[in-house]
Amino acid sequence: MSENISIQLNNQQQNELIQKYQNSAIASKNQYVSFCAKVDAVTINLYTSGKVVFQGANANLLASPFLNSQIKKDTNPSAKILSTILPQAGSDEVGTGDVFGPVVVVASYVDENIYEQLKAFNINDSKQLSDDWILEVAPKLMTIVPYASLILDNKKYNDVHQQYNLNALKAILHNSAYAHLQTKIKQLPKLCVVDQFTPKSSYYRYLKDQSPIISNLTFQTKAESSFISVAVSSMIARYLFLQAMDQLSTQVGFTLHKGAGQQVDKDVDQLIHEKGKAILPYVAKCHFSNIQKKL
Ligand code: MG
Repeated sequence: MSENISIQLNNQQQNELIQKYQNSAIASKNQYVSFCAKVDAVTINLYTSGKVVFQGANANLLASPFLNSQIKKDTNPSAKILSTILPQAGSDEVGTGDVFGPVVVVASYVDENIYEQLKAFNINDSKQLSDDWILEVAPKLMTIVPYASLILDNKKYNDVHQQYNLNALKAILHNSAYAHLQTKIKQLPKLCVVDQFTPKSSYYRYLKDQSPIISNLTFQTKAESSFISVAVSSMIARYLFLQAMDQLSTQVGFTLHKGAGQQVDKDVDQLIHEKGKAILPYVAKCHFSNIQKKL
C-alpha cells in the first residue's frame, strides 16, 4: 500500500539521509527540493526546509531509521515543540480524576494536510487551556481531524469498575478508540502514541481478552505536550467531558463541579438531600472517597 511519511530532519539527519541514498539520487524540478532519490518504489524528497517526504509502497521501511531518531529527540522532557512526525495518531483520556461525569477517551489522526490546517489554532499543551477556549475551539478541530471517541457513562463505569481496575479500563478504552479510528481512516499510521498511564507491558496484558488488539503503539508520558495528535485528542476529550457534565447538571437541576474537592462533597450532600442516594451511581464514580464516606 502506498504511504506518505513526512519527517522534519535536523542538519545532521539531512546529511545522513543524503549520504545513505546518494547512489539512488535523481533530478527534481521542484525548486524547493534540495535532494531527491528513488529507492525501489519509494521516492524520497528532501526539501530546503529540512522536511523529508518518503512516498510509495513500504515507505515506512526507509523512513523508520529517521522516525526513531526523531522519537528519541522528542522524548527529551525539555522538548517543547509538538512533534512534526507525520502522519501520526495519538490518544488521551479525561474524567478519571473527576467524581462526576464520564470517562472519555479519544484517538485522533493528523497527517500533513491536517497539520497545516491545525496551525491556525496554535495548539499547545491542552492542560493549560481554559474550558472556554476548549468549548470554542474543539468543535472546529472535530470538523478537521478524523477522531474516534468513547464515552463511558457513570452507570457503566461503576458496573465495570467492579471487574477491572482503572488502568485495565483505560487500556481497553484506548484500544477500542484506536480500533474505531482504524475503521474510520482504513489504516493507522506507523506512529500511534498513547499518553502513557501504565507501562507498555501492562497495557498489553490488560488487553489479553480483547479483539482486535491494536499493536505497535508508542507509549510516552506527558505525550500531549510533545505530540499534536495527543494534544488534539486531549482537547476533544475534554470538550466531550464538559458537554456531558453540562447534561448531567441539567438533569440534576444544579451545576455539578469537576474534580474531587470540597465543592464536590457539597454537591454530593445536595444530591442525596434532593434526590436520594440511589441517583449516585448514575452521576458519580462511586469508588471515590467523596461518595464512599456518604454511603
Ligand atoms: Mg493523559
